[in-house]
Amino acid sequence: MKMTTCTFCGGIADTREHIPAKQFFKGVPDKNLITVPSCSACNKGFQKDEDFFRQFYVSMLLDRSPQAMQLMNNEISRSITRTPALGLQMFGQMKMVHAYTRAGIYLGRKTMYHVSNSDRSRIDRIVKKIIEGLFLHEFGEQLPKNWLIKIIWITPKVEKEQKLTDMARTLRWNVIKEDTFAYGVNFVPETFQSVWILDFFKIPLFYVLVLDKKTAKEE
Ligand SMILES: [Zn+2]
Repeated sequence: MKMTTCTFCGGIADTREHIPAKQFFKGVPDKNLITVPSCSACNKGFQKDEDFFRQFYVSMLLDRSPQAMQLMNNEISRSITRTPALGLQMFGQMKMVHAYTRAGIYLGRKTMYHVSNSDRSRIDRIVKKIIEGLFLHEFGEQLPKNWLIKIIWITPKVEKEQKLTDMARTLRWNVIKEDTFAYGVNFVPETFQSVWILDFFKIPLFYVLVLDKKTAKEE
């Protein structure tokens, strides 16, 4: 039997990892979700940051997504009860920001967190994990380790300068669960250099560029 490689570390895979985390999809049958091969160590190693990522995302969107609200009331309030310090820390950092929908429609000022550098690196870690998983799922190849995964947060300035509404229209969208998670992707044929939007609760907060070593240097 051929050994399967872990999507994240290149070790031997002995389990599968949900992309994104299963906890986002309460009540959705497993066969509808994306999984990729993973070793147990990577699988376990993501858990705390996954929790953090989910809390961060859901809390930010509470005021405009009933799905986020539901998650908050169930799963997430349980995990806050487990680690109250994390919950308090997060709620202490809320502030208002500008928000946009998938189609680029301005939603006005919404609740958002101030993201500290250490929080940011945890979020980035999970975004990278999701991109590595989706890359394998879409292209059937592992994302080369020396490629750059560049996360660009969607601020009003970015939205305006980069014409994100136009960009979003050029992507091929895969809706995993309406109202909860979809992703859009477009890529350079043959190289798989690509652009991605991860759309949790219909509110994308960032887009992601995946660039090969040479292009990354020119960036
Ligand atoms: Zn691994």
